[in-house]
Amino acid sequence: MVKKCPHCASVNITFIESGADAGKHFCEDCGYTGEVLFGRDEFAD
Ligand SMILES: [Zn+2]
Repeated sequence: MVKKCPHCASVNITFIESGADAGKHFCEDCGYTGEVLFGRDEFAD
């Protein structure tokens, strides 16, 4: 399953394992931090 940034739709997402934002995801492309969308590529046409 592919994780996508809800802000810029990038798939270049890093999971934050420690610190104040632990448990969230960080977008390498736009700097968004928080929940991400989970793509459904397995159902892609
Ligand atoms: Zn982004």
